[in-house]
Amino acid sequence: MRMSEHGRAWDDVQRDLVGRGGRDAKWRDGKTAVYVFNAGEEIAQIQKEAYAAYMSENGLGPLAFPSLNQMEQDVISMGLGLLHGPEGSTGAMTSGGTDSITMAIKTARDYARANGRAMQSANVVLPYSAHLAFDKACHLMDIDVRRIPVRTDGTFEADADAMEAACDAETIMMVGSAPNFPHGIIDPIEQLGEAAERQGVWLHVDACVGGYFAPFARMNGVPVPPFDFEVPAVHSMSADLHKYGYAAKGASTVLFRSEELYQHMPFDFSCWSGAPMKTPTLAGTRPGGAISAAWAIMNYLGIDGYRRLQGKVCDTRERVAEGVKALGFEVLGNPMLGLIAFRHPDHHAFAIYGELYKRGWFTSATKEPPSLHLMLSPEHANYVDDYLEDLSASLNAVVQAAGSAQKADVRYS
Ligand SMILES: *Cc1c(COP(=O)(O)O)cnc(C)c1O
Repeated sequence: MRMSEHGRAWDDVQRDLVGRGGRDAKWRDGKTAVYVFNAGEEIAQIQKEAYAAYMSENGLGPLAFPSLNQMEQDVISMGLGLLHGPEGSTGAMTSGGTDSITMAIKTARDYARANGRAMQSANVVLPYSAHLAFDKACHLMDIDVRRIPVRTDGTFEADADAMEAACDAETIMMVGSAPNFPHGIIDPIEQLGEAAERQGVWLHVDACVGGYFAPFARMNGVPVPPFDFEVPAVHSMSADLHKYGYAAKGASTVLFRSEELYQHMPFDFSCWSGAPMKTPTLAGTRPGGAISAAWAIMNYLGIDGYRRLQGKVCDTRERVAEGVKALGFEVLGNPMLGLIAFRHPDHHAFAIYGELYKRGWFTSATKEPPSLHLMLSPEHANYVDDYLEDLSASLNAVVQAAGSAQKADVRYS
């Protein structure tokens, strides 16, 4: 597109704009289980109104906008309240999980350097299932990444012993996920904590997808093991609001056990011709709407609202798990929240994925091992039967194709 000489009428542009979505994944009809967290029309409306209310304000200016400053602090205290943040714990809102993780690594590195560690080079020790945001951040900061294979006992959990063995004097951080994205499995954070303490290493828990889910699941009776600041070795956490916090996109939290750790995050600068500036995170300008929408949704839902929504997601995941097992699939490990991955012992997940795609489903897959992957939203409660019916048809199509391929082999060999 080239910019036109003259502008166009808004209703013309608007029609065009809405029309652009015509070929997007049909998430509103329940057939998408990745990228979008659909908690229904009412939540979507509140996101929009609350976002628009502070859309023009800028989180860069806490003095100009004490409203946003206070809302951010409220969001952080609500987050810390859910995640066992001790007295003195603190944090900041960021634009998303990648941003939160990047800031946590930067903070851990500067903390390590201030304490005489990792002065020449630095590394981070991760389970193989950890999010790629860690590698992106480490690439930016020239930090080595040590990805350690997960356990091979069928749990798909981080291998705390192997991770501990991978630590050395240059290690600035060990990571556990709660849960990881590929399998939806919560790593053994207590065991990782013991290892991190023995090594004197900063432990980060990546609760991007679970931080605003697991506490409510636990209140609902799901046996979620300790995964947050309740584990004493946990130094920092990343927890996204724009996932199971049901906030508008562009909202995450990065949390620290203490002010002493946090103080290595903000960037304070005065050596230029402009005014001295101190920014807490990577961003300069910060969209006020992302802060106000998160604040509004958290206040709108409250604990009972989140419990209801997350309970619905857990029920949906259980129904999916039962349904896929009845079709002969095997669920990977022991997922407890909204993510689930499963594979068929005889038929390749990607072939089945292709058949589901033909039937209008836009879901995800994992590479190791090849499996189908769903990230479920409250609205999916209404589509489990449709999904299982199409999964069954897709499996049959793959079975039949395999059967005729075998016959063809016999005929021509
Ligand atoms: C989504 C996710 C991230 C990254 O968050 P973005 O908001 O997409 O940048 C990191 N870790 C886990 C476990 C996630 O699920």
